[in-house]
Amino acid sequence: MPIQDVDLIVVGAGQGGVPLAVDFAKAGKRVVLFERKHLGGTCVNVGCTPSKAFLASAHNAGRARDAAKIGVHCEITIDTRAIMRRVNQIRRDWHDGVERKLSGAGVRVVMGEARFVGERTLEAEDITVRAPIVLLDTGSNPACPPIDGLSELPYLTNETFFDLEDLPKSIVVIGGGYVGLELGQGLQRLGTDVTILETGSRLIPREDADATEVIAQALRDDGVDLRVGKKASCVARGDKLCVRLEDGNELETDAILVAAGRTPNSEALDCAKSGVELDERKFVKIDVHMRTTCEGVYALGEVAGQPAFTHVAWEDYRRVKAVIEGGTRTRDDRVLAYSTFTEPQLGRVGMNEEEAVRKGREVRVVTYQLEDDARGTEWNLQRGFYRLVVDAKSEAILGATLVGYEAGEIVHTILAHMEAGSTWRVLERSVHIHPTFNEGLPSLARLLV
Ligand SMILES: Cc1cc2nc3c(=O)[nH]c(=O)nc-3n(C[C@H](O)[C@H](O)[C@H](O)COP(=O)(O)OP(=O)(O)OC[C@H]3O[C@@H](n4cnc5c(N)ncnc54)[C@H](O)[C@@H]3O)c2cc1C
Repeated sequence: MPIQDVDLIVVGAGQGGVPLAVDFAKAGKRVVLFERKHLGGTCVNVGCTPSKAFLASAHNAGRARDAAKIGVHCEITIDTRAIMRRVNQIRRDWHDGVERKLSGAGVRVVMGEARFVGERTLEAEDITVRAPIVLLDTGSNPACPPIDGLSELPYLTNETFFDLEDLPKSIVVIGGGYVGLELGQGLQRLGTDVTILETGSRLIPREDADATEVIAQALRDDGVDLRVGKKASCVARGDKLCVRLEDGNELETDAILVAAGRTPNSEALDCAKSGVELDERKFVKIDVHMRTTCEGVYALGEVAGQPAFTHVAWEDYRRVKAVIEGGTRTRDDRVLAYSTFTEPQLGRVGMNEEEAVRKGREVRVVTYQLEDDARGTEWNLQRGFYRLVVDAKSEAILGATLVGYEAGEIVHTILAHMEAGSTWRVLERSVHIHPTFNEGLPSLARLLV
């Protein structure tokens, strides 16, 4: 097959690849985009979109149960088929939207797994294309932990979970990270008996220990059997599935969900053929400007080892585009924020105390408990706290950890202050609306006065 020359090749229809392909095509460039599975990548098909649609049902059930504490008694009937039908409709709509965006812009989409066959030259489905600019946005896949017998069993991952029509009666979730906690709590709230196994000594070790403890307690109160510091050694099939733990205990379960980290999708690319180097963990090596070791080849998102969030991969696209156009944006010139969508949520922005101290900053740290909060009291949503980390000398806000109701929304106020370069004193003198959860933020800053 002759090699076809185009202006841009994108590998992976994820969060960064799609908008770059669309921008180039709209500017009249010839663009080929390879995608091996589904347009829209992880977020739209098997990540954020279906998981948050699923959690919308689960958290409504949780809130309806909690309403009894303020005198509203609800009878809850869970229609799992309706829930999963809705989840699937939403992700199909979003997937179709991506398809329309690409075809509307004139991007040539090739459904197939692409691999390098030469410098900036890729092949899939009998099509070989070459371009001066190549963008790798191939993301990651769920990792399979080394547990005896696991690979022979039909375990679930985020790739298959949302295809379920019915939810299992019981499930063991392997992995107490963001995905395991969100889906674990969601399942429990929809009537499944959930056990979560986490091998580490605590959940999400990158977060403050007391923050993760609030989330852990909320899950336990929902009925989740949370086993921290516990490792599965083998799994087997009897009448049910059996998970044996290293401490000798056994768990009988109807299903297993593996949420134990991610592996970058780099192997199939055969990067060496184009001089694109991988690091020791198989992430594509990029410099600060997101350039790989091959001129003209860029990488972004999870395959490049960037923080594993949709808004990061999307923002990466704007960086790559600016660099291609001669700009100087870098891979991390942003204030990073994210949230876990458990209930309560954990909203994080910037550095926590441990990270700031590790970077040699002299810090002041204050914490405001939601049990003292007006809105929290009125709504019986007093679980959690807000914590602010500031630079002791410049008074700049370095970061915040918010645990509480919709903390993933509220944290944006701090994000905006950080982007604007304001100090904690600006936050302190801001008069927020009473009574709102946001009102707790100036109260938090006031603890520094
Ligand atoms: C259950 C779950 C929930 C999540 N929830 C959130 C959330 O609430 N908020 C948030 O910010 N993030 C969330 N994330 C993370 C987020 O989904 C990812 O960080 C984001 O989708 C990564 O985008 P990406 O562009 O790097 O890659 P992806 O979106 O994974 O896209 C990569 C694409 O490349 C394709 N591909 C791979 N190799 C090849 C090849 N050789 N040839 C052709 N195509 C290839 C893949 O099929 C895929 O479609 C969640 C993740 C999971 C698993």
